[in-house]
Amino acid sequence: MSNLIFETSREGRRCVILPSSQMHGDDVYNEYIRESALELPEVAEIDIVRHYIGLSRKAHGVDNGFYPLGSCTMKYNPRLNEDAASLPGFAHLHPLQPEHTVNGSLKALWHLQSSLCEVTGMDAFTVQPAAGAHGEFTGMLLINAYHQSRKDTARTQVIVPDSAHGTNPASAAMAGYEVISVKSNDKGGVDIDELRSLVNEKTAALMLTNPNTLGLFDENIKEIADIVHDAGGLLYYDGANLNAIMGLSRPGDMGFDVVHLNLHKTFSTPHGGGGPGSGPVGVKKILEPFLPNGTIIKENDHITIKNDSEVSIGRMRSFYGNFLTNIRALTYILSLGGDGLKEASKNAVLNANYMMEKLNDLYTVAYPGTCMHEFVVSMEKEKHEYNVSAKDVSKALLDVGIHPPTMYFPNIVHEALMIEPNETESKETLDFAIQTFRDIYHTAMTNGQALRDAPLTTPVKRVDDVLAARSPILIYKKP
Ligand SMILES: *Cc1c(COP(=O)(O)O)cnc(C)c1O
Repeated sequence: MSNLIFETSREGRRCVILPSSQMHGDDVYNEYIRESALELPEVAEIDIVRHYIGLSRKAHGVDNGFYPLGSCTMKYNPRLNEDAASLPGFAHLHPLQPEHTVNGSLKALWHLQSSLCEVTGMDAFTVQPAAGAHGEFTGMLLINAYHQSRKDTARTQVIVPDSAHGTNPASAAMAGYEVISVKSNDKGGVDIDELRSLVNEKTAALMLTNPNTLGLFDENIKEIADIVHDAGGLLYYDGANLNAIMGLSRPGDMGFDVVHLNLHKTFSTPHGGGGPGSGPVGVKKILEPFLPNGTIIKENDHITIKNDSEVSIGRMRSFYGNFLTNIRALTYILSLGGDGLKEASKNAVLNANYMMEKLNDLYTVAYPGTCMHEFVVSMEKEKHEYNVSAKDVSKALLDVGIHPPTMYFPNIVHEALMIEPNETESKETLDFAIQTFRDIYHTAMTNGQALRDAPLTTPVKRVDDVLAARSPILIYKKP
């Protein structure tokens, strides 16, 4: 482990030499004067550069290696998106600038909203929500506003499949709904008979992902939509991972009424590490009046900001949402065009199926058959027979510079590894990853201890998960 920047500090060392202050003590209100010096690291410029470059080399990102993290779509982000987002006209805007000085930017957001309508088959979009879960919460509030406006007030339940992303039930619960879980059938889709038995006059909505978190497309989607609609409920589409279907099929055509997208997954915007995201929400006409204030709208051919609608669910975020993230996504969409988006999805599906076919003689695919953009394998048998777990495989991948797949999710698959290669990887990278997974499997059979000892090359080896969860040390104490 390298030192913290505070440990590198030496008294008196500096990066810059500032001119001495022209201000006198009595120019400043006494209450604002510090009583003791601010504790900052004292380092030379070269120490700072080495410190941060060193940290960046310890981190694994799309820019330095394969990152098949299922349900997260860690695809490569073309630098053109960054160029557009750093244009001074975008980057130097102030959020409080008067509207007539930001026409071009409003137009760009409108263009994005319209493009997303086209991609998803929705009638209107808002780019207010800052992330996927935020979009889900927004969608739940929209659905609630719709039922309330019709005085249909007994709808207190939201149905969520047992394979759903954890944010789905959380968002429904945050919006005040009771969450009802519906089972998956043996093909990994929604169990239709159980769904029939669960919908009734209390059903506000069904939240669904299609393809779901098993990487499977639910072919019963029309029937599912009819069951929910016939009961007076609405359909919510978790479109965090649109990577399999962009330009090929549209949630709006499948019967969904509300959808959120994760621009920071599908639309090539950097994510991870807590960076800004964007979770725009699209709706069918019936829900449009309730869209958040702050949504970009077109009124008499004039693009403006919806500000004071009384039926709106209100603002979901300050100002324009995560503006530059939205600009990156617009750039991505415009640079690929409709055909490019379609091709991206086809390649994402092809790459996932290629990897799955090259691994399924060793690894047990949880739900065999053609997958969409990702697939899930289970290490349950190997765990039982060889005491090698999904986590051991993941740790071994770290030693060859591959980011582990998503582990232990979805919950309905034991010892799950969820692999999403995505379309931006070359065949050579996929072949390298396939060979690595195969080698690791052979090690699991012959020398399980080697996997249980991994990783050996990372700055931090295995951490004690339980200790880290129960007694985390969150404050750095100077030695
Ligand atoms: C990532 C993801 C979410 C949540 O998105 P955040 O931006 O992390 O809030 C929701 N649903 C699915 C299926 C996801 O993969």
